[in-house]
Amino acid sequence: MDSETENILEIVAQKGYRRTAARLAIIAALVDSDGHITADDLADKVRQQAPLVGRMTVYRTLDLLCELGVVRPIFQGTGAAHYILMADGSHHHLICTRCHGVIEFEECSATTLMEQLAEKFNFHVFSHLLELHGLCESCHE
Ligand SMILES: [Zn+2]
Ligand SMILES: [Zn+2]
Repeated sequence: MDSETENILEIVAQKGYRRTAARLAIIAALVDSDGHITADDLADKVRQQAPLVGRMTVYRTLDLLCELGVVRPIFQGTGAAHYILMADGSHHHLICTRCHGVIEFEECSATTLMEQLAEKFNFHVFSHLLELHGLCESCHE
């Protein structure tokens, strides 16, 4: 099993949720697609591997994973939410408002800002999602 799948299953188990075959299949499919997938597309993908897992189970599991903070919905302006993985604590996107393209970046200089905000509001930060909206290189020419 993929280590990220294992990591997410571990978080789910720590919160007292059982490690069911359905949850395993759903999480594995989500990690396999590296997130950025709609609930419907994920349900289709799960169905190929585990035909007995119903669509509602996929929706409910996504809700649970959102509640646990390991997954988060984002809106790219194309209708349905895409679910992204947050288990490693951060996620960064540049989102083009014209072509709806998403550029991923790893390096994050928001750490100082986060520390200042955590201090100011006495807030415990678990994760962050940084989203910048604008026009990509091919759209602003
Ligand atoms: Zn664009
Ligand atoms: Zn992303």
